[in-house]
Amino acid sequence: MAEPRYIFITGGVTSSLGKGLASAALGALLQARNFKVLLRKLDPYLNVDPGTMSPYQHGEVYVTDDGTEADLDLGHYERFTSVAARSSDYVTTGKIYSTVLSKERRGDYLGATVQVIPHITDEIKRFITNDTEGADFVLCEIGGTVGDIEGLPYLEAIRQLRNDLGRERTMFIHLTLLPYIPTAGELKTKPTQHSVKALLSEGIQADLLLCRSDRPIPADAKRKLAQFCNVHSDNVIAALDAGNIYQVPLQYHEEKFDQQVCRYFGIEKPATALDPWHKLIDSIKNSKEKVRIGIVGKYVQLLDAYKSLIQALAHGGIKHQVIPELVWIDSEKEENVASQLGTVDGILVPGGFGERGIGGKLAAAQYARENKVPFFGICFGMQLAVIEACRNQLGLKDASSTEFGPTSEPVVGLLTEWASEAGIQLREENGDLGGTMRLGAYPCVLEKDSLVHKIYGKDEISERHRHRYEVNTKYSKRLEEVGLHFSGFSPDGTLPEIIERKDHPWFVGVQFHPELKSRLFESHPLFSAFIKAAVDHKKHQG
Ligand code: GLN
Repeated sequence: MAEPRYIFITGGVTSSLGKGLASAALGALLQARNFKVLLRKLDPYLNVDPGTMSPYQHGEVYVTDDGTEADLDLGHYERFTSVAARSSDYVTTGKIYSTVLSKERRGDYLGATVQVIPHITDEIKRFITNDTEGADFVLCEIGGTVGDIEGLPYLEAIRQLRNDLGRERTMFIHLTLLPYIPTAGELKTKPTQHSVKALLSEGIQADLLLCRSDRPIPADAKRKLAQFCNVHSDNVIAALDAGNIYQVPLQYHEEKFDQQVCRYFGIEKPATALDPWHKLIDSIKNSKEKVRIGIVGKYVQLLDAYKSLIQALAHGGIKHQVIPELVWIDSEKEENVASQLGTVDGILVPGGFGERGIGGKLAAAQYARENKVPFFGICFGMQLAVIEACRNQLGLKDASSTEFGPTSEPVVGLLTEWASEAGIQLREENGDLGGTMRLGAYPCVLEKDSLVHKIYGKDEISERHRHRYEVNTKYSKRLEEVGLHFSGFSPDGTLPEIIERKDHPWFVGVQFHPELKSRLFESHPLFSAFIKAAVDHKKHQG
């Protein structure tokens, strides 16, 4: 296929229906038919990216190799399709406007009045159709719900694209909800009818309805939807709640979702590569044993903040055929932390920002060190493990991070200069917060004979980063003497990337975010090794 086909996925009735997962699943199903796919997301908010948003607002910030801070749906896309997302796969209204406004300041519009139509919509269309080399299908998820004011320019842009590219190269999929009303004993189609009408009033006729429902959709409800919403009855697809997100692609396939998409475009290619998905489900079904993993964090009320982490632990579980049972421990309730760690087989301190809640994380690192429980510190978790060792092993009571304010013992300090592919990066204390962290993939050299070298089986790795502060090597010599060893560095040897403890069965801290690169069919080596260490710990305790 020379030119890609575009599939637009909109959402109706309510938010949180799982458009991201639905898009990722369709991407995987098209791959199973040997098509090349690209998945993109367009978010209708005014932030340029989610980087400065609170996790409570937005959940996790997903980071791509090329250093884009993006919506967590890109994580679903990557995990389901193994296609690495790039900056050209994510945009927000803020980014679109800032591009248009800088063009306007440069005088690129040659005296024209700059307007939503055509200037904003043209920029959206450019984003959608740019950088699609090699793709058979480009799946574009439009964030938000149809009816939102913020979403209008996106709907207008995709309406225009249908006109520009023709029906043969564009398809509109609308994801909706059929609520079950117990007093009527029925699944209700009316909200979907309204949502399809709202879409139609923007000039878009849905081609296929993907209907979320908690129970099978009776044939007459499907018929009704087809009739009122003006879609073919075969294109009313049930998207039933799944027990496990990995079942979604196969479940959709059984409902003939991918078959109908192909039929719409008039192409025939059988789904020949679904075997790995079947095997995956079998392996999940065969996992019986549990390991308890304590996760000590600040955002435990909103687990979306740890989306990739949860998935990476699940992948590690699948690899060893065990079920990681996650024990969420609120790091702000410091006094309860150690008492909750007594029954876990592994302790994980994830990434985070700010001083609030560090007490619980430091307590967790200390507990793991002293009680020889497998410990995995990620980014902030690594930094705090180093601070804990400085405070409690080296007796440096003021050991801290400059992130929390001035300190006489800056064990963790602001990164002001580092080497990147684009050249030397410089930062100042009062600089902008948006998009200025050390972001994206950077290489890291592993020390031979270290635990991490054994785990990765490589001399050099590439992992994704998102941090503003860095462990200060000034303390490394003294730390080495008390067992905390630095086993991975940036290639120029200046930035410590990994710590491990020689006096401990499994104690690893990493400055990067390995969870962002764990894939469904390829568990990340560190997560896989951590789960294994937890299984071993459980056996020894047992
Ligand atoms: N707050 C720390 C920093 O900016 C850690 C960041 C993180 O965990 N992602 O360096």
